[in-house]
Amino acid sequence: MHGTSILEEADRLMTVCNSCRYCEGLCAVFPAMEMRRSFSDGDLNYLANLCHACGACYTDCQFSPPHEFNVNVPKTLAVARHESYAAYAWPQAFAGLFARNGLVISLTAALSVAAFILGFAVFNDRQILFGVHGGPGAFYKLMPHHAMAALFSATLLYAIVALAMGVRAFWRDIGEPIGMKTDAASLWQAIRDAGELRYLDGGGVGCFNKDDDRPTDRRKLYHHFTFYGFALCFAATSVATLYHYLFAREAPYPWWDLPVVLGTLGGVGLLVGPVGLLAEKWKRDPVLADEARTGMDVAFIVMLFLTSLTGMALLLMRQTAAMGPLLALHLGVVFALFITMPYGKFVHGIYRFVALVRYAQERRAMGHV
Ligand code: SF4
Ligand code: SF4
Repeated sequence: MHGTSILEEADRLMTVCNSCRYCEGLCAVFPAMEMRRSFSDGDLNYLANLCHACGACYTDCQFSPPHEFNVNVPKTLAVARHESYAAYAWPQAFAGLFARNGLVISLTAALSVAAFILGFAVFNDRQILFGVHGGPGAFYKLMPHHAMAALFSATLLYAIVALAMGVRAFWRDIGEPIGMKTDAASLWQAIRDAGELRYLDGGGVGCFNKDDDRPTDRRKLYHHFTFYGFALCFAATSVATLYHYLFAREAPYPWWDLPVVLGTLGGVGLLVGPVGLLAEKWKRDPVLADEARTGMDVAFIVMLFLTSLTGMALLLMRQTAAMGPLLALHLGVVFALFITMPYGKFVHGIYRFVALVRYAQERRAMGHV
């Protein structure tokens, strides 16, 4: 007996697939499945988080609908994966946020914080909000650096703790093998697999969409734009923090300086990637997707796009009177992104990475590497 009906269905499908094994070369899910004869809830959540929803095993399956076996692995694992995010969320009281309208919550949070910052600036000095400011420290005329740093450090710290607690629960439930934390080779293998999105390719041919004659690599490409765009933006913020505290150099920086170069490259990635992912999402065959939770994916993608859009607009217009309102809007969007991170689609990357570490370790233990 499993905890939910979707895990019951996932168990049924994995039992059918374990007898068939036709798809074992497509991705990591089937080899991991073949290492088991029975499936606990944790095993099924582990397999669900290894799946990249490429759709290849549905297209290739001789038992997919209308066959009476009704085998639909991508959709079943998509639903199980989404339910796993809520099952491991911390604190559990917020688990329901995964099921609600994430975009409305995120936009409300973003606009509320932007309005708070605008109100704060107007209350102090209306001239500052709509004035033209230049040179180091210009951003902190709107809001003092210590207030900005305190607000965002506290928000990021909360997000990190909530994410860490969720991952810890997932890690334990999928059955952490002995010695896994010190297994550097498996960790390195998982970093490489995640960095290449190795299993997001339908066994080498690409992902399946509703209107395409053939599978394509576009989903993988836009994931790369998004992932590396996010990483570059994170690097830009980290370098700027080091500049501020180690070298007493205050933002904004000139266009050629490292934080701006990294942020611009990352910003482009976070414009192209999310737009492409949204386009691919609309083209997906509904039979492969967990349609009830599409809103969760869309909310995260839209917030990433808005983070980049407001950041790039701020970069282009920082020498104008629009700087104050744009900075308030950008900070509001970043705040909303941070605060919703542990309860939205952001967690999928982390859970997938943990599942890949486990998979690499299992493969090594079985002598497959
Ligand atoms: S998805 Fe279908 S073809 Fe692939 S292993 Fe399962 S039952 Fe076999
Ligand atoms: S949808 Fe793709 S990644 Fe998921 S189990 Fe099927 S082949 Fe593997």
